[in-house]
Amino acid sequence: MQMNKWSYRADFAVYPLLIAAALVLALRPLHAGQPVHSLAALAVGWLAWTGIEYALHRWVLHRVPPFRRWHEAHHASPAAYIGTPTWLSAALFVAAWAALALVLPRATAAGLAAGSMIGYLVYAVIHDAVHHRRAAAGSWLHRAKLRHALHHRAGVHGPYGVSTLAWDHVFGTAPPRAG
Ligand SMILES: [Zn+2]
Ligand SMILES: [Zn+2]
Repeated sequence: MQMNKWSYRADFAVYPLLIAAALVLALRPLHAGQPVHSLAALAVGWLAWTGIEYALHRWVLHRVPPFRRWHEAHHASPAAYIGTPTWLSAALFVAAWAALALVLPRATAAGLAAGSMIGYLVYAVIHDAVHHRRAAAGSWLHRAKLRHALHHRAGVHGPYGVSTLAWDHVFGTAPPRAG
């Protein structure tokens, strides 16, 4: 969806707050000295996000209308402020968190939520930087820009991952000479 610069960047204000709240709930049992799975839940949540990032981009944004049309607009004008509104993505994260809290210990659910939202924020920061920041030749960001620019070229199948190419390697959509 087309947004202005500030609604586009709302992710960077809202997600740190949500992540902080989830981290407080996730890490509280550690302070009580209890053996918990919060840190493992954080890692699993992050890993889950990278898979979601790949799957959403490859199989939803590139195939399912109307997402496909919105994503094509992003491909056509990469620097425009087109993206998912924060209220929508945050509502989905909070709903998933609430559903997990019904079936898992509260701290574990919060750890999964925190890990996946950290993964999303990292993705959002990288995708924003890739399209809106300059990068010195040879830097990590410069290589990320080249990778993502390759994906933006019409007719190129992959890479779909922005924060990691791990799933592109799993599913065979990584570029031949990935930086
Ligand atoms: Zn795409
Ligand atoms: Zn892009």
